[in-house]
Amino acid sequence: MALEKPKRHQVPGLNTRAIHHGESFAPDTGTVMPPIFPSSTFSHGNPNGFDYTRSGNPNFRILESVLASVEECQYSTVFGSGVSAITAVASTLRAGDLVLCEENLYGCTVRLFEQVLAKFGVRTEWLDFTDQSAHKTLADRQPAMVWLESPTNPLLKVIDLQKICDVANDKRIPVVVDNTFATALLQRPLKLGATLSLTSTTKYINGHSDALGGAICTDSTEWEKRMKFAQKSLGLHPSPFDCWLITRGIKTLPLRLERQVDNAAAFADNLAKHPAVAWVRYPFRSDHPQYHLAKKQMRAGGAIVTASLKSSQQETYSMCKGLRYFTMAESLGGVESLVCHPATMTHASVSPAVRARLGIDDCLIRFSIGCENLSDLIGDIDTALNQLQ
Ligand SMILES: *Cc1c(COP(=O)(O)O)cnc(C)c1O
Repeated sequence: MALEKPKRHQVPGLNTRAIHHGESFAPDTGTVMPPIFPSSTFSHGNPNGFDYTRSGNPNFRILESVLASVEECQYSTVFGSGVSAITAVASTLRAGDLVLCEENLYGCTVRLFEQVLAKFGVRTEWLDFTDQSAHKTLADRQPAMVWLESPTNPLLKVIDLQKICDVANDKRIPVVVDNTFATALLQRPLKLGATLSLTSTTKYINGHSDALGGAICTDSTEWEKRMKFAQKSLGLHPSPFDCWLITRGIKTLPLRLERQVDNAAAFADNLAKHPAVAWVRYPFRSDHPQYHLAKKQMRAGGAIVTASLKSSQQETYSMCKGLRYFTMAESLGGVESLVCHPATMTHASVSPAVRARLGIDDCLIRFSIGCENLSDLIGDIDTALNQLQ
């Protein structure tokens, strides 16, 4: 990712905006980092209009302002987790509403729609949005909402966001894009026409695997009101301390991501050369099915690499367990590398038939590439793969 040239009288560059957050809500202390405001309540009539932390807190406001600045949009609302942000958006739906969803959405989004919202009469239809017929379905069905994610988990399918947003915007259908895997640094859903850009800040934004959070970014005043309403009325707010941690984490987001992306691109190429590997999936590799779209839509290929081994489920699992620098764990986006075996972890509850349809085989592994030295990561995986053979 190229460094931007600073220009006078212009908006500061991304690195600067990630670091300088403005308001600390403690101006007479000279504090460089904002304090943590654990107070549950605030004296009535204070100049900033705080009343009770469920409906707003200085630490929420600082994080919301930096997230909106990084996303280059008007509004941001923070939540207690990515799933809380998803719940906030979903809570605006009514009984009878139809949501057209990408079929490869994050598992907890699927569970929320199928096991919770279905009880309240919200209907869903699952489509492969890389298939042109999905655009026609969208134009024909008049859904209340379209829910997308790109790149998807764990197969890193890349969806043409602009194309789908164009069709949806024509019919005034709101589009939600879960942008967790790319972040606003690599992909800007709102600029491509989305109504809401959703992020689990637990992942890259915080980057240190020590807090949970979620956020919705938007340019719509109407949606901003709905999100602030959901934050307080559904109790989806984060904790001030978690906001403080995520605010600290975001300062190094551009630096971390640059290293992670460089590591991931080189790691993917190295993996593809190993005889024990059946195939590798990475958005910026020319063998990716949506390579040209990824190049157009994203500033870099991200830091998730997926591969399938020429091995058995048991051997794949043992190989993952045996890695030295990759902890076998769910989640992603931290400075520390992680490895996940979807068949026995994130997608264990998905039926084998559905897994097969989604292309998640028993020997599939997903790497979340961290900031370690590339040579150590490559050495680690090569040693383990050599032992497999
Ligand atoms: C992790 C994740 C979420 C959920 O976020 P939490 O903070 O774990 O609640 C949503 N979408 C995607 C793509 C994720 O990776």
